[in-house]
Amino acid sequence: MIWYPYQQMKTMKTPYEITDAQGVYLHTRDKKLIDSVSSWWSVIHGYKHPVLTEAIKTQADRFSHVMLGGLTHEPVQKLARKLEEWLPGDLDYCFFSDSGSVAVEVALKMALQYYVNQGDLERTKVLSLTHAYHGDTFKAMEVGDDEDYHFILEAYGEKKNVIHIPTQIPALEEAFARYHRELNCFIVEPLLQGAGGMRMYDISFLQRARELCDRYGVLLIFDEVATGFGRTGNRFVADLVLPDILVLGKALTGGYMGHAVTVAGHKVYERFYGEEPQKALMHGPTFMGNALACSVALKSIELFEEGEYLSRIHRIEEITRREMAGLEHPEIRQVRMMGACVCVEVKEGAFLEGFQQFAYERGVFSRPFLNYMYAMVPYIITEEELVKVLGVMKEWFL
Ligand SMILES: *Cc1c(COP(=O)(O)O)cnc(C)c1O
Repeated sequence: MIWYPYQQMKTMKTPYEITDAQGVYLHTRDKKLIDSVSSWWSVIHGYKHPVLTEAIKTQADRFSHVMLGGLTHEPVQKLARKLEEWLPGDLDYCFFSDSGSVAVEVALKMALQYYVNQGDLERTKVLSLTHAYHGDTFKAMEVGDDEDYHFILEAYGEKKNVIHIPTQIPALEEAFARYHRELNCFIVEPLLQGAGGMRMYDISFLQRARELCDRYGVLLIFDEVATGFGRTGNRFVADLVLPDILVLGKALTGGYMGHAVTVAGHKVYERFYGEEPQKALMHGPTFMGNALACSVALKSIELFEEGEYLSRIHRIEEITRREMAGLEHPEIRQVRMMGACVCVEVKEGAFLEGFQQFAYERGVFSRPFLNYMYAMVPYIITEEELVKVLGVMKEWFL
């Protein structure tokens, strides 16, 4: 049987069974639902996009996968070249992997080894944010900060190598003043913290982080697994403040299949480059650079460029602000919006019980968690469809 994610299997309600999907719609046997979650924020072009489906079929007719150990191929070369040219600054060195969590592990390993490679074994600590979410593998859990996901780590006792700070400049300055000699990196979900509750913060925090990282030689890692490809209204937050390492996942393949990439800047790559075999990056997921994933990722980026996605996303934000204006209710703590993300935080999570079924009956798939009701829609959504999604969210409070 299937063991479902984040679920108490004994009390879990039966999941909706999807029989087909097209555009923004998920089809069940008797219903058509607008997917307001974009399958965990990844399906930015909608389902069954002819160009993306064709990319996979064409590649599958050649080969679906070969390993990157001693082999290479055109789809991975083309995608790496595209990312090199498309990503800001000198973020040019692409290490592929099969999921966001693994790509985060790779980034953290790079940052640690960046110092080990020059004989510095003191820089063992990572600075990260409170309410951070970076995935469910062990080091990713450790730099994460959400008891609801990762409370099992309590069994290990105190986290010795991770320091968590809130997204406030004084806390940032204090952490650097105190720990800068021990830090190898500062990892953040830039501007928008997703699974930790759709928390939004100001760019000035990241600008100050960049300055402090430069001053103390600490690597800045942006985990843009959730924020990348337009979600915040920026193509990448890395376009505004340049990190040393960038992690992309989720929407990388347009949500067609699991793939991710850890992209390093020149300074990082250099530290691994040389004659000594022991300075190499010792990592190699079996399915890294999968040919189907790379083919569909390349087409997904082309669609993003050709389809003027940033103006679409700005339109989504405009409509969202218009529709959500004035939403008030004694149970609402805050309504937050940024780019193509909107979150209604309520005071008690229990207040959202039953909302998923309520939305389902009205033709919308939603998946609130804890105190958060949110929408992160596919960018191809029409105004009418978006108004419907937001209308169902508002209706719950009437
Ligand atoms: C989803 C997510 C991850 C983990 O990605 P997986 O592909 O689920 O392993 C890491 N970081 C952030 C910010 C995410 O939103």
